[in-house]
Amino acid sequence: QKMSLGSAVIPIINRLQDIFAQVGDVTTIRLPQVAVIGSQSSGKSSVLESLVGRDFLPRGNDICTRRPLVLQLVHTAAPTEASQGAEWGEFLHRPGQRFEDFSEIRREIEIETEREAGTNQGISDKQIRLKIFSPNVLDITLVDLPGITKVPVGNQPSDIELRIRTMIISYIKHETCIILAVSPANSDLANSDALQMARIADPNGSRTIGVITKLDIMDRGTDACNFLLGKVIPLRLGYIGIVNRSQLDIIENRSIAEALANEEFFFRSRPVYHALADRCGIPQLARKLNQILAQHIRMVLPELKARLNAQMVAVIKELRSYGETMESIEEKRIFLLNVLTKYCEDFSAMIDGKYLDMPTT
Ligand code: GDP
Ligand code: MG
Repeated sequence: QKMSLGSAVIPIINRLQDIFAQVGDVTTIRLPQVAVIGSQSSGKSSVLESLVGRDFLPRGNDICTRRPLVLQLVHTAAPTEASQGAEWGEFLHRPGQRFEDFSEIRREIEIETEREAGTNQGISDKQIRLKIFSPNVLDITLVDLPGITKVPVGNQPSDIELRIRTMIISYIKHETCIILAVSPANSDLANSDALQMARIADPNGSRTIGVITKLDIMDRGTDACNFLLGKVIPLRLGYIGIVNRSQLDIIENRSIAEALANEEFFFRSRPVYHALADRCGIPQLARKLNQILAQHIRMVLPELKARLNAQMVAVIKELRSYGETMESIEEKRIFLLNVLTKYCEDFSAMIDGKYLDMPTT
């Protein structure tokens, strides 16, 4: 099983959703959006890709993300013989077309970026909307945003910085948006654009996770411990340190699996990070996100239960109208709904105990 976003909560949420689908309820558990913000080339697109576990975003050391990319992950049923491990993408602007080759997805993002924002580093706030269908994801929306730049280049307008900031705020101002504030470890955290903007949108830090990238290319003799401990800029939900693929890794086609192994080796071979193991690495970032999502699900569970109960009452009434003895599909439905309700209760108990007691910093 490859590492991917929500690997701990996926099975639970997906089973719940599969069961709801079986009893014919369109109930879906709506999860919050996650947006990545930060200065240009801080590693935002790289972090998103690692979380999804697939290569498909344009990345590089100049401005690659020039339009907001709204990435909707859609959970599909576990692969059967017929649909062997099917994972594919679909763009809103390319209705009906399945992209099964993920490098084609990257190419299409580049083409579509150029169509709207030109070839000369221009930006546009018109979204590109991409759905990824996979049995390995949970239903969540991730937003990749252009990075903050200060000096206009190419066809960028003179007020490029203000424009990008306004675009970013329009996403992260929503209370339901989880902000991944990405800052590279090889520059001064006190000057972080990401943290500065996150603070504007989320002043008490209840939905901002600090992500420190590029731990591998810090100045010799320095480390990111003080950043990760929140001693430079405190953050309620804390920080996670990350090592993504370098540009050379990308040129040499290193896979995400290799990158994750490489990251793990990095942290293992540096004793300064041993005491901070719970704040280091993509798997820990996924775990932190899971905690936040579990908390969210716990909040919406009472409503789900109420809906199940209402359905059950309706089914019982319908059954009575047929006469008590009838051994029918309705009885099976009642049975199923009972199981479901119990399942919801177990689930509440489980996330209460298993996730919510974990420290968040
Ligand atoms: P974005 O502009 O914030 O989306 O950043 P990208 O994800 O496109 O990354 C910008 C460049 O930095 C790419 O060349 C990446 O390979 C490189 N990069 C990103 N994260 C890291 C990291 O943790 N370590 C190293 N060495 N390079 C990184
Ligand atoms: Mg990017």
